[in-house]
Amino acid sequence: MKNNSSQNQTTTQKIAFIFAMQEEQQGLEHQLQDKKVVVRGKRRYLTGSLWGKECVCVLSGIGKVAAATTVTSLIENFDVSQIVLIGVAGAADAELKIGDIVIATTLMQHDMDASPLFPRFEIPLTGVSHLSTDTALSGKLGQAADFFLENDRENHVSDAAIAQFNLQNVKIRYGLIASGDQFINDAQILAALKKDLPDLLAVEMEGAAIAQVCHDYEIPFAILRTISDDAGEHADYNFGQFIQEVAAQYSLGILHNFCRAS
Ligand code: SAH
Repeated sequence: MKNNSSQNQTTTQKIAFIFAMQEEQQGLEHQLQDKKVVVRGKRRYLTGSLWGKECVCVLSGIGKVAAATTVTSLIENFDVSQIVLIGVAGAADAELKIGDIVIATTLMQHDMDASPLFPRFEIPLTGVSHLSTDTALSGKLGQAADFFLENDRENHVSDAAIAQFNLQNVKIRYGLIASGDQFINDAQILAALKKDLPDLLAVEMEGAAIAQVCHDYEIPFAILRTISDDAGEHADYNFGQFIQEVAAQYSLGILHNFCRAS
C-alpha cells in the first residue's frame, strides 16, 4: 500500500510530544496504548494514547535542524494541534541549579547572526528575535510539573539520586531559553551570552527551532527543560547519569500528570 501523507492524516486533533535524546523519552513507549509506528525521514513517529490523551511521540535528534524538520513533519503529516518538548538544558542564571525546571515563555537563537544586514539574533526578514510560547499550554505544563515535584517525584526518582544531585529544594522558573547548535560547556561563552541577554535562564539546542516552525504554522507549543548542567567546564560531568536517573523520570512523571489533567 502506498504510504503518502494523506493516509496518515486523521480528523482527530492530537498533541505531539518531542524529545531530543533517546534517554529523555525512556520508558514512554511502554506506556503508549494502541501504538502505531510510522517511520519518515529517519524519525520514528509513535501514535497512540498516553494516559487517555491522543498523541504522537517522536525522538527528533539533537540540534535545530533535526528539531525543525521533525516539527514540520508532525504538523504536515500527523495533524497535531499542539506541540510540547520536554528535555534538559544548561543553566544560564546563577539562581538555577541542577534539577530545577525552566518553562520557556520566549525563545531565541543565540547563534543567529546575520549582522550587519540584520540586527544580531534577529531571524532575517521577520523583524523579530524572540518568539513566545503558548501561555495556556505552558501553564498546564507548569501545573503538571508543580504537582510532580510536590507529590509524585518520590515515586519516580530514587533517594540516592535526590541526595547525589542535591535535589531537595528544586524550583520552577518561567522565562527566556536560548537555543543554538552548540553544547555550551564554557563559563566564558555563557558569561558573554548572558551579558547580551541578561534575562536568559537556560541554553539548549532545539527549542527556538520548534518555536520558529510553530509560529510559521500558528500552532501552540510549550517547552519544558530540566536543568542538567551549569553550561560550564564540567557540563558533561554526570550528564548521562543525570538524564537516566533524574531527567527521564521527570519527563515521564510530568507527562503523566499533564495527560491526566488534560
Ligand atoms: N552527550 C550527549 C549529547 C548531548 S547534546 C550524547 O552523546 O548523546 C545536549 C542535549 O541536551 C541537547 O539536546 C540540548 O538541547 C541539551 N543541553 C543540555 N545542556 C546543554 C548545554 N549546556 N548546552 C547546550 N545544550 C544543552
